[in-house]
Amino acid sequence: MTKTSIAELATFGGAKLFAQPKSTSNLVAPDFQRFLSYSKQFFDEQRYTNNGPLVRLLEKRLADFHQAQFCVAFCSGFWAIAVTMTALALKGRSEVILPSLSYRRIADLAAWAKLKPRFCEVETDTLAMSARTVAPCINDQTALIVGMHPIVNCCDVGGLLRLADERRIPLLFDSVESVYEGCSMGKIGGFGDAECFSMHASKLINGFEGGYVTTNNEALAGKLALLRGFGFSGHDNIVFVGGLNAKLNEIHAAMTLASLDELDAQVTRNHARYERYKRDLAAVKGIRLVEFDEVYLTSYKNILVELLPEWPISRSRTLAVLNAENILARAYYSPALHQKRMDYPYIPGNLPVTDSLAERFMLLPCGEFVTVEDIGAVIGLLDFLYWHGTEIEAHATSQ
Ligand SMILES: *Cc1c(COP(=O)(O)O)cnc(C)c1O
Repeated sequence: MTKTSIAELATFGGAKLFAQPKSTSNLVAPDFQRFLSYSKQFFDEQRYTNNGPLVRLLEKRLADFHQAQFCVAFCSGFWAIAVTMTALALKGRSEVILPSLSYRRIADLAAWAKLKPRFCEVETDTLAMSARTVAPCINDQTALIVGMHPIVNCCDVGGLLRLADERRIPLLFDSVESVYEGCSMGKIGGFGDAECFSMHASKLINGFEGGYVTTNNEALAGKLALLRGFGFSGHDNIVFVGGLNAKLNEIHAAMTLASLDELDAQVTRNHARYERYKRDLAAVKGIRLVEFDEVYLTSYKNILVELLPEWPISRSRTLAVLNAENILARAYYSPALHQKRMDYPYIPGNLPVTDSLAERFMLLPCGEFVTVEDIGAVIGLLDFLYWHGTEIEAHATSQ
């Protein structure tokens, strides 16, 4: 169904373009029988949690997948990151360096780890932090650098590794958005002191909920494995005070294993969706697709676009118009974290590049509920919005 006049837009009372919402959540469903056959193993052994057979198998598979020596599974990405931050932060120091144009919860996570976020700038061309933007944030209170990958492609892994090494500051990567990716340094997962990932259903690998840490540091892996399970080693031998229960259970491990088995097939489907976006968006004025760097391995999962100066409608109006059609496009990391009110201490910094980038990007529908035909319809609508933009703005403001 194509729109011929702006009165047909759902935002002005017309019929929605999609009956079902088209979102940016992945929600990949692995083969149900495969999930059941993994589940049967722990069920037969009556091992439901506490480092059971499937969690151990999963940790081995994930370590191999990331070409890292160790993997420690957690109940969520959140706790994987919070616990690893606590374990890595230099004692007696209070600050953690993070980009402001980033995942909404990352500053909250730092607060859980009792660290004060100091927000760094990002590069205009990659939307990512780099050694250049992190270096000025380092001081004698810096306890940790968190390398956050942007949603498309990777941050400056090599530069951050060199900087952290030179300044002797631990480096943790939040690699949730780059789980499948490679970069000029190799496969994501083996860099810095540790890397953290999520298996939330909205991410590339669906484990319902879950997270994990990869590292080449055996002592760190051992410590994380203790910390996730109350800090117990053996029967009631408390090694760490302040441990918590952040263990992954067996049924989540079964789901994750089933998802992992089908990961490459999923990426092939993502690639087809991405190619359709790329082909059709090239013909739409005022919008630029942020392209994957196909020199390296990539999951092709997220579809990120920039609204260029000639795009005739504000981003917030564009999102409202799209959302009304059941196209659940979202603003990219906006507002930036340093622009939000938070009720814990942080150092906002002066971040003009972030301020400007935070206004311009949006994520378009992707994942398993979006077909290649749906993408054609989404792009058709965007083209319509470009040509009728002035009319839409005028009509919306007169209402
Ligand atoms: C989703 C996400 C997390 C947190 O993972 P959960 O498993 O949802 O707790 C952390 N970092 C980034 C970049 C994310 O997108």
